[in-house]
Amino acid sequence: MEGVEKVVIIGSGPAGLTAGIYCARAGLEPVLYMGSKFGGQLMVTSEVENFPGYKDPVLGPDLMEQMRAQAERVGARLIQDDVTEVDFRSYPFVVKTTSEERRALSVIVASGANPRRLGFPSEMRLMGKGVSNCAVCDGFFFRGKKLAVVGGGDTAMEEATYLSKLASRVTVIHRRESLRASHSLQKEALSDPKIDFLFDTVVTEVLGERKVEGIRVKNVKTGEEKTLSLDGLFVAIGYDPNTQLFKGQLDLDNNGYLLVKNETETNVKGVFAAGDVRDFRYRQAVTAAADGCKAALDVERFLKEPRQLSLLQA
Ligand code: NAP
Repeated sequence: MEGVEKVVIIGSGPAGLTAGIYCARAGLEPVLYMGSKFGGQLMVTSEVENFPGYKDPVLGPDLMEQMRAQAERVGARLIQDDVTEVDFRSYPFVVKTTSEERRALSVIVASGANPRRLGFPSEMRLMGKGVSNCAVCDGFFFRGKKLAVVGGGDTAMEEATYLSKLASRVTVIHRRESLRASHSLQKEALSDPKIDFLFDTVVTEVLGERKVEGIRVKNVKTGEEKTLSLDGLFVAIGYDPNTQLFKGQLDLDNNGYLLVKNETETNVKGVFAAGDVRDFRYRQAVTAAADGCKAALDVERFLKEPRQLSLLQA
């Protein structure tokens, strides 16, 4: 069908780029919108030691650059532009960006999720230099060290419990006097002898020039401020999945993540989801990449169905 793409991919993290690699190698000539900033969360990660295939640690941005170059080499058409609107009610689907509009027989949404930030400059300056959003990714670098985890939800309890196996001490800092986390996760963290809690407390600054050396905290009830010396700060105050664009067209759960069945299928046939935009459980580069692969294989299968096949041959 003239002027209609076989597949458009939205997102350029590990999920989107892996989908791009698989779709390109299957001859689907994918168009991949990278967003105005390419690479996703790994662009603010320093050393990655758990992505298979790299014997030595690789820097997050270098890993993403390799994936981008690989996708391009096998024929994915990468476009640095933000998708601003989609229409999944008409078919072929419509995807609009700041500068163009394309129609597509299938779409893979791999727009990711953004970790929430505390929101002061020293947090971003020391991101990847002691400030992290992922215990599984970075905990290994902090064996025997003193750490803090910010947050009172399930993620914070899981991060603290995971880190306590590696660190010498973990302090959970929560802005209220009671935790939001589920009873079982709370219980596990509260009974862990290596975890202590600072309630009614917020972090006001991360200290250190080239790496984290401590934090400033403030008790929100008494106003008392103090400095804690630390080696790492894990910010676990939730994620915002990038699903604003899809509201009203794709089914979302209560936290805004895309709902899927059979791993990749959204409620709109022909629209698939991959990576952190639908997965709040694993959130790893390797699981996002695996998701991208699955979505691409599902697109291939979808395009072989009679309706799509006849459109492709038209
Ligand atoms: P969450 O439930 O939204 O919790 C975020 C926590 O961070 C809350 O305690 C919140 O405080 C605090 N917070 C938010 N903004 C803050 C700020 N600016 N400064 C300081 N603290 C701040 O997020 P989540 O823990 O990532 O969980 C998200 C969803 O995934 C939940 O539905 C959760 O149940 C689910 N999840 C499940 C599992 C599991 O079942 N194993 C694991 C992880 C996540 P307040 O409490 O004061 O609002």
